[in-house]
Amino acid sequence: MAVRKIHVKRGDMVRVIAGEDRGRTGKVLRVLPAKGRVIVEGVNIVKKHRRATRNVEAGIVEQPAPIDSSNVMLICPSCNQAGRFGVDRSGDGKAVRVCKKCGKPID
Ligand SMILES: [Zn+2]
Repeated sequence: MAVRKIHVKRGDMVRVIAGEDRGRTGKVLRVLPAKGRVIVEGVNIVKKHRRATRNVEAGIVEQPAPIDSSNVMLICPSCNQAGRFGVDRSGDGKAVRVCKKCGKPID
């Protein structure tokens, strides 16, 4: 499977724009480039039955499952809006994501 470019990274705040959790926002916990998916805090929660281990009792744990990266939009930490982002290389040559609404860098 081709590795898809994912527009968000771990630690980004994103808004879910499709699926059951549409409208919800959360932090990106993991990015799975090989699958084109991301795991977002509090989104797409699934219940898993867990066996007892030495440290924890058996039970049901709720944890976020991966969702398609195209279902999330990056939220700008400066203006708090989900929207379009450009890439600015004008600084030290490093690519920096820039909010097209307020012009502030995301990283
Ligand atoms: Zn902004």
